Amino acid sequence: MSGLTPVADALAMMLDGVQPLGQEMVALAEADGRVLADDLVATRSQPPAAVSSMDGYAVRAADLPGTLAVAGESAAGRPALTTLAAGTAMRIFTGGEVPDGADAVVMQEEAVRQGDTVTMNGRVHVGQFVRPKGLDFTEGVTGLAAGSRLDPRGIALAAAMNHATLPVRRHPRVAILSTGDELVRPGQAPGPGQIVSSNAFAIAALVRREGGIPEDFGIVADRLDDTLAAVKRARDEGFDVLVTSGGASVGEYDLMRDVIERMGTRPGFWKIAMRPGKPLMMADLGGTRLIGLPGNPVASFVCSLLFLGPLLRRFSGLVDVMTPTEPAVLGRDLPANDLRADYLRSRLTESEGRLVATPSSVQDSSMIRVLAEADALVLRAPYAEAARAGDPCRIIRLPR
Ligand code: AMP
Ligand code: MG
Repeated sequence: MSGLTPVADALAMMLDGVQPLGQEMVALAEADGRVLADDLVATRSQPPAAVSSMDGYAVRAADLPGTLAVAGESAAGRPALTTLAAGTAMRIFTGGEVPDGADAVVMQEEAVRQGDTVTMNGRVHVGQFVRPKGLDFTEGVTGLAAGSRLDPRGIALAAAMNHATLPVRRHPRVAILSTGDELVRPGQAPGPGQIVSSNAFAIAALVRREGGIPEDFGIVADRLDDTLAAVKRARDEGFDVLVTSGGASVGEYDLMRDVIERMGTRPGFWKIAMRPGKPLMMADLGGTRLIGLPGNPVASFVCSLLFLGPLLRRFSGLVDVMTPTEPAVLGRDLPANDLRADYLRSRLTESEGRLVATPSSVQDSSMIRVLAEADALVLRAPYAEAARAGDPCRIIRLPR
């Protein structure tokens, strides 16, 4: 036993007991990207009656070929009030209701109109160019399932099913706290030994992409009272999640554990069998879930992707919370792996219809530039055997 927690186990613990947030109603125009809180059922059938899919003539198929008298008209929104009598045709337009008595539509390009008669010499089958009632959906069917993320197409369907407002999950609210004596905000002039804090900005952008609302709590020095005050504030202001970065190395970890214990709870704390990645902390502050990320920028980002992402998706009520992986082939040889799962920053290319993932030769977890230039993470399982260029692998595509 290495004492390291497998990624999947840590993720399962992270998600354990997390319930979707409450729901609210939003207008269709505000619904893109939101997660449906309830199944959305069609309140009507579409089309509501049999309609024509062409401009032309509604007929009885049995009357053709031949010349028919034209009687009446049916256009979209202006249905004919009469029944089609045998031996007659009715002028009809796309979306117009097919009148009772008619069972087919002949497109106008196939018809020769002469005054009050129309001649149609082609073959006609019953149902030609007729969209039957409920072809798209019927009243009562579930068109969109709870736990799915609304997109432009889903919103169109919701509108067509006659929902003006939609029940969605509340946005998760996420406080982000950067810890470290050495950090200054971007735009400031770092003093001796100082660096520019970057983690919070990547985390906030990821939170937004997951449908969350980030709030930057800024930087606190490595001091118990300052850190404790910020953690209390996140809880008192009812944030769903507090993400901290830094303070994850051994000496500093004691500080964070102290803070969490002073909040009256016990930290979940794991050394996770992954690289990049360091100790990851988690605590339930009574309504606010704290995730303590390592400070190294690449570790902070990859842990956000692998742990914070699924947590936010669970809060958002999504059915599918796991980070998706895809198949690819390796662009270069890789040595056998050790006990930690590897997430190798890699470039993607295409060759002979295959996706080729080439891990960067430098994988230092401090290198933001390598991360920024990467397209994907190549996954290497613990104890994976040495692999050759061209061997299959799994990747996680990095959000663009
Ligand atoms: P720590 O987890 O606090 O030991 O930090 C590990 C490394 O990450 C150190 O080199 C820190 O300077 C760096 N680091 C910590 N926080 C940040 C941050 N917000 N932005 C960029 N680098 C950071
Ligand atoms: Mg630190």
